[in-house]
Amino acid sequence: MQLDNLYQEVILDHYKNPQNKKLATSYDAQVHHINPSCGDEITLNVTLDGEMILAISWDGVGCSISQASVSILTDLLIGKSLSQAQVISDSFMHLMQSKGTQTGDEDVLEDAVALAGVSQYPARIKCALLGWMAFKDASVQAMAKNS
Ligand code: ZN
Repeated sequence: MQLDNLYQEVILDHYKNPQNKKLATSYDAQVHHINPSCGDEITLNVTLDGEMILAISWDGVGCSISQASVSILTDLLIGKSLSQAQVISDSFMHLMQSKGTQTGDEDVLEDAVALAGVSQYPARIKCALLGWMAFKDASVQAMAKNS
C-alpha cells in the first residue's frame, strides 16, 4: 500500500503513541468490535454529559490503520457534541467511500485526512472504519442509557 510519506508518518505516530488507549473504569457504554478480515479488535468506552462527549477510551490490537484511526478519532471527538461528532463521522465515511478521489477536509477531519489514501484499498477501509463504527454504536447505547 502506497501512502503519502507525511501521511504515513501521522498514522505511524498514532500507532506508536496511541491517544486515550487506556480503558476508563467508569463509562456510560462499552462496545467490542472486530474486523475479522484483518484481525483487528477494539474495545471502546464512551462517557457522555448530556449531548457532550466527555470521554472516549479504548484498547485494542490490530493493524496500524485500525489502531491509528481510533486514536485519531478520540483526539477529534472528545469534548465535542454528538451532533458535531456526527458531522465529523459523516465526513470521514464520505472520504473512505471516495475511492482515492478525495483528500478530505482538514478543517473538519484534522489528522484523519492522513487516512485518505486508504480509500483506494477496499480491503483496508474496514480497518479505518472499525473505531468509527464502535464509537457510533457506543454513543447510541450511552444516549439510550442516559435518557
Ligand atoms: Zn486492519
